[in-house]
Amino acid sequence: MSEDCIFCKIVAGEIPAKKIYEDSDLIAFHDIHPVAPVHFMIVPKEHIGSLADAQARHEMLLGRILLLAPVLAKEQGLHEGFRTIINTGKGGGQEVMHLHVHIIGGGSQRAM
Ligand code: 5GP
Ligand code: ZN
Repeated sequence: MSEDCIFCKIVAGEIPAKKIYEDSDLIAFHDIHPVAPVHFMIVPKEHIGSLADAQARHEMLLGRILLLAPVLAKEQGLHEGFRTIINTGKGGGQEVMHLHVHIIGGGSQRAM
């Protein structure tokens, strides 16, 4: 756990979040400022600062996050598809420095 990390505090139950999934390694909850009708994040419980800080030992964890994404997206009603975004570092627009994958959908999504 990183002392000043908002997502570590959510993992620890110290600040509330609208949780949609939890297991021993991962948690998923709705974004506090959704940019689409459905917008949630999948977050590893371990404090990993960003994708750039992930190590070889996180290989399974990263795979589990990606495999969980379509399962939770469907549960949230995203039957037509969804966007998956990982912002990495200041240059990548990352605001919360604890690795997370955004799952976004349900509105008109601009193609990239
Ligand atoms: P980033 O820009 O780091 O990829 O995204 C961070 C996201 O976390 C933002 O979309 C922001 O709305 C969300 N966020 C920041 N603080 C909180 C919080 O306390 N609770 C929840 N649920 N989301 C948060
Ligand atoms: Zn953290």
